[in-house]
Amino acid sequence: MSDLLDHLLQYRLVVFDVDGTLYDQRPVRRGMLWHLLLGALREGSPRTILALRAYRHAKEELAAQEAFGHEATARRRAAKASGLSEETVGGLVEEWMRERPLPLVARARFPGVVELFEGLRRAGRLVAVLSDHPAKAKVDTLGLRPDLVVAATDAAVDVQKPHPKGLEWILGETGCRPGEAVLVGDRVDRDGGAAERAGVAFLLRGPAAPPGVLHLPSYLSAPEQVA
Ligand SMILES: [Mg+2]
Repeated sequence: MSDLLDHLLQYRLVVFDVDGTLYDQRPVRRGMLWHLLLGALREGSPRTILALRAYRHAKEELAAQEAFGHEATARRRAAKASGLSEETVGGLVEEWMRERPLPLVARARFPGVVELFEGLRRAGRLVAVLSDHPAKAKVDTLGLRPDLVVAATDAAVDVQKPHPKGLEWILGETGCRPGEAVLVGDRVDRDGGAAERAGVAFLLRGPAAPPGVLHLPSYLSAPEQVA
């Protein structure tokens, strides 16, 4: 058994963030930027890029403000910034942020993720996914089968991390107490913040961490901590 699996087996429920946690976002962003630039040249207009940038910026800002109804607000702001209709922005978000990246997401999966999910489920642990974006298609393309896939865009949640509502909703659905769960995520502010407020343990997926934060250099190594 790996040291990581051994560590995680102390919990009944393991919740994973998606972007930057289950796959490397950098090659996906580079690949999508290239396609976006080509599209802008073909169209002779940067409007798609402007709309998506405004949408992404609004989502970040609304996460920090812990705003409910964030998805509709982000689309509205992106429509205003780009001069496109909200409906058009919605279509662009679906196409460029949710559908077209899927093949790149599949190729960028972190080594050891599939084996870890399988090890946890074989040991009878509950595995959930919690993302600020719709995550079902990404989880499918990554070849993962968690027990539960929850997104901040779900009506039952409607607010992004660091608000703890998504995590608390998963605890309620699985019947787990906070002390029986751990959240694995790549952002101390957003994932770590949500975990802390829900009373759930946190494990940072990343090469380095601030002192006192348990982190995971890779899924093939043991968790580490800087004093
Ligand atoms: Mg993330």
